[in-house]
Amino acid sequence: MPRAVLDAMWPYLTRTFGNPSSHHEIGRVAGEALTDARSRVAGVLLCRPAEVIFTSGGTESDNLAIKGTALARPRGRHIVASAVEHKAVLETCAALARQGFEVTLVPVDAEGLVSPDALAAALRTDTTLVSVMLANNEVGTIQPVAEIAAECRSRGIPLHTDAVQAPGLLPVEVGALGVDLLSLSGHKFGGPKGIGVLYARRGLALAPVLDGGGQERGRRSGTENVAGAVGLAAALEIAETGRAEVSERLTALRDRLTSRVLSTVPGAILTGSADRRMPHHASFCFEGVNGETVLLELELAGVCCSSGSSCSASSTEPSHVLTAMGVSGDLARTAVRFTLGRENTEAEIDRILELVPRAVERVRALAS
Ligand code: PLP
Repeated sequence: MPRAVLDAMWPYLTRTFGNPSSHHEIGRVAGEALTDARSRVAGVLLCRPAEVIFTSGGTESDNLAIKGTALARPRGRHIVASAVEHKAVLETCAALARQGFEVTLVPVDAEGLVSPDALAAALRTDTTLVSVMLANNEVGTIQPVAEIAAECRSRGIPLHTDAVQAPGLLPVEVGALGVDLLSLSGHKFGGPKGIGVLYARRGLALAPVLDGGGQERGRRSGTENVAGAVGLAAALEIAETGRAEVSERLTALRDRLTSRVLSTVPGAILTGSADRRMPHHASFCFEGVNGETVLLELELAGVCCSSGSSCSASSTEPSHVLTAMGVSGDLARTAVRFTLGRENTEAEIDRILELVPRAVERVRALAS
């Protein structure tokens, strides 16, 4: 977490610990901090402050977006999502399916891309919500959200995007994206864990998922996490500062990593799209090796990377994202994903490039 984020949060973790709903002085100061944090988030998303709902993170934002819209049920009981959404979306849809909603999962192509035409074909007169993520956490593919939004808007169907992976790397202005709902998670862009945002367009019918004291204009009850909101807002502003330059630098590092891994590691396959890809994201399958074992080898050498989604890392099932892209279960189990940070240097990439071929070779030798 950047020092400036912690500094922004510090007073609200120590001196000013009031409840923003209280009318006394400490409560009022906490309330002002919350109002300021909301305005700053709105300044980045280019929306109204009242359209910003603070939640406990990406999972809750996805739940509130989907359950909240479905249960307000302005149109019908049909929900459309892509097959490569995060589990926070897919499991929420599955929970609604158990309550009688009908869910259509739109397939993706071999790069993990949702075709706007395929999505349009899935829409019905009773479709109440569409959910398509902005960028995929496992393979880095960026979805054509603005195109999908135009289609949804022409039919009056609300669109939710899980933009948890985007801040600091991709633009998140809600007007340009054309979305009605957008989820963010603080810890994905240098903020604290346990705080998130749901943008909900003014006028959109949204039933609360948490009932209680009516905080967040009745849309999310519970005493607000003031320090978390202040930290999230500071981190979002920092992440957005110089986004274009950071993206350009990370893209160059990522391309160096990708091209050399593909040319030096036998059986290496890039997963996801080569062009429509997050600037910091390089993901591979290494034929014939167990991805988890490669991770352990790399970790011993001081490189931390992931296999599938870190949120379902305890699962032995192959990644639902890779299988939706047509990757076999066996190949999906060889997946390794590198995500670069702002601080990563060319020297670190070169060190990884020395380590990866050796790690894969060692794991292959062990398996044979
Ligand atoms: N959506 C995506 C795309 C994610 O990558 C994650 C977490 O990794 C989440 C949702 C869940 O966010 P949180 O961990 O804040 O609940």
